[in-house]
Amino acid sequence: MCGIFGYIGYQDAAKMVAIGLKRLEYRGYDSWGIAVISEKLKVKSKKLFVEKQVGSIGDTKTFNSKLLTLNSSIGIGHTRWATHGGVTKTNAHPHFSTDKSFALAQNGIVENYTELKSSLSKKGYKFETETDTEVIVRLIEDKQSLRSKDLKQKLASHLSSGNVNLKEAVRLAFLELEGRNTIILISNDGQVIACRNGSPLIIGKNFKTGEIYLSSDTLSFAPFANKMLIIENGQLVQIIDKNITISDLSSGKVIKNKFEDIGFEAEEVEREGFPHFMVKEIYESPYVIEQLVSKDRKTFENFAKIINECANVYTIGSGTIGVAAAQIAFYLRLYGKKKVISLIGADSVEYLPLFKKGDLIIAPSQSGETADVLEVLEKAKQKGVKIASIVNMPGSSMTRLSDYKFMMQAGPEICVMSTKAYIFPIAWGYLISKTVQGKYDEGIKNLITLADEMDNWLKQNKNHKDIKFLAKKLATKKDIFLLGKYQNFQIIREGMVKLIEGTYKHAHALPSGDLKHYVITLIEKGVPVIVAISEDIVKQDLLNSVHEVKARGADIIAIAPKNHSDYNTFIQVPDCGQVSAIMNVIPLQLLAYYMAVELGNNVDKPRNIAKSVTVK
Ligand code: GLU
Repeated sequence: MCGIFGYIGYQDAAKMVAIGLKRLEYRGYDSWGIAVISEKLKVKSKKLFVEKQVGSIGDTKTFNSKLLTLNSSIGIGHTRWATHGGVTKTNAHPHFSTDKSFALAQNGIVENYTELKSSLSKKGYKFETETDTEVIVRLIEDKQSLRSKDLKQKLASHLSSGNVNLKEAVRLAFLELEGRNTIILISNDGQVIACRNGSPLIIGKNFKTGEIYLSSDTLSFAPFANKMLIIENGQLVQIIDKNITISDLSSGKVIKNKFEDIGFEAEEVEREGFPHFMVKEIYESPYVIEQLVSKDRKTFENFAKIINECANVYTIGSGTIGVAAAQIAFYLRLYGKKKVISLIGADSVEYLPLFKKGDLIIAPSQSGETADVLEVLEKAKQKGVKIASIVNMPGSSMTRLSDYKFMMQAGPEICVMSTKAYIFPIAWGYLISKTVQGKYDEGIKNLITLADEMDNWLKQNKNHKDIKFLAKKLATKKDIFLLGKYQNFQIIREGMVKLIEGTYKHAHALPSGDLKHYVITLIEKGVPVIVAISEDIVKQDLLNSVHEVKARGADIIAIAPKNHSDYNTFIQVPDCGQVSAIMNVIPLQLLAYYMAVELGNNVDKPRNIAKSVTVK
C-alpha cells in the first residue's frame, strides 16, 4: 500500500525523492526511507547511504536529512503502510543487502514469504527485520551467488558486466514471489532496477533535462516530467547512465517502449484557507456534481444501452467506495429496473465462478489501484466480463483494464477520508440509472437542483454551528448507532465509515427495521442514534424505529427535511426528492469532520489507514 519513488538526474536526489514521497503519502505514512548514492566519494565503487524514520515525511516541514550533504543524483525512496512487521525504523524500507551493495523497497505482500524465508534461513541467510521485503533482498543475494558461479562456468560473453548479473538475479528472484508486488532497488554501481506485478509503476521523463522518475503514480512526478511510460505487470526496468531498458520478466527479452504525454497538469493543491483538506473537499461536492452534469449526454446514453444488453450487472468497491458501489446498485435496481448485485472487493470469491461472458461489472474507485477490486476485475475480464470504471486518478490500472472508462473529474482528493470522491460515483449512479429508465433529463434537472441546495446549505453558518455543537456532545460517547432504509441505507453506512475513520470510535449502521432483531439490546438511556430520513415511501417505517429506540432512552439525532417530536436533535436538510439521500451525506461527513477536530485526531491522515489500498 506504500508509495515508491526513484530519481535519476542532476538535482539533489535526496531532495527530489523526498518531494516525490510527500506526494505519495496518501498511500501510507507509517514510516519513510530514502537511499542515495554518494558522489562525493572518489572511489571506484560509490557508496550507498540510507536514511529511515518512523512517522510521516509530509509532517517534516523542512526536509533536513544528512543525505542532503552527499551531493547525490540517483536515489530511491519509500513511504510505508506496514503489512508485515511493526512500524519501526528497522522495518522501514529501503532494506540493505548484506554487503550494502544495493538497497530495496517494495510495494505489496510476498504471499509465500514464510516458505521463502525458511528455505533461505536453512541456507544460512540472516534476517534483521520482520518484513516480507527482506526476503526479497536475501533471495536476490542468493540468486546473485548462484548466478556468479554459473557465469564463471559459462564464461558468458554477453554477460560481461556485474550489472547484468544483478539484473538477472533480481529477475529470477522476482519470478519466485507470489502476490501483487512491485519493487525498486538502487545499487552502488549507479543502477536502478524495478519490477512490477500488480502494484503500479510508472516512469516519468523530462525530455528537456533528461531527468528520470519512477513512481507508484503519475501525479507525484507530473510537475517535473513531460512524458510517461506505464510499466505493465510482468516487466522489469533497468536504468544505467540514464538509459532505460524494459524487459519481459519471464523471458528476460528486451521490450520496445514508447513514452506518451502525461496529458494533464498536476497543480499544487492548497488548503485555500480551510483548516483541513477534508472540510475543503466536502465544500467541493456541489462543484463535483456540476462536473458530472456537464458531461456529454451521449456517453450516458451509450452506456445505458450496454447496461440494458448485459445479462448480469455487478458493482464493486472497497471501504467508502464499496458503499458507493452499493448505492449505484440501489439506483440501478430502483430506476433502471435491473437486478444489480453489489460486491465488496475483499469478499467476492464465490462470485468468480459465476461471472460469465455478457456480464458487466461497474467499479468506482478513487485511486483505480485498489488491490482486492483489481484482482476480481482481472479474473472477471479473463472470463469475458466487460468492465466499466469510474476513477478519479488519471492513468490508473483500473482505467487501463476497463472497456468503458469514466473519469470522476472530482479534482485531487488529499484527505485520506474520502468525501467528494464518494459523492461523484453515487450521483453518477443516479444519473446512469435515470438514463437506463429513459429519464436522463429528469436526472440532470434533479442533480442541478441538488448541487444548488447543497452549496446553499454548506454556506449557512447555522448548519456548521449545529453540527459542531453535536460533535462536541458525541465526542464524549463510546458508541454511535445509525439508522436508515431504502435510499438512505448506504448513506448511513457511509456516515458510519466516516465516523469510524475520523473519530476512532465505534459506529454501527443498520437498516432501521433490523434493529428490533438484535441491536435493540444495546439501546439504553443516552445512546446516540442518528437517523437519515427523507420524504419518501419508507418515512413511516423509519419513524416507527425511531419511536422504538426513543422508548428505550436513545438520544435521537435526525437528518431530515421536517422536524418531529421524537427528535432530540434536528439537522434540517432541504427536501431534494429522488436525490435526497445524496444531500444527507453532507451533514454526516461534516459531523465526522467536526468530531475528529474536537477529539484532536489527525483529520487528513487518520491513524492506520491509507488512501490507496494496493495490498490485499
Ligand atoms: N509488505 C511490505 C511491508 O510491510 C510493504 C507494504 C506495502 O506495500 O505497503 O513493509
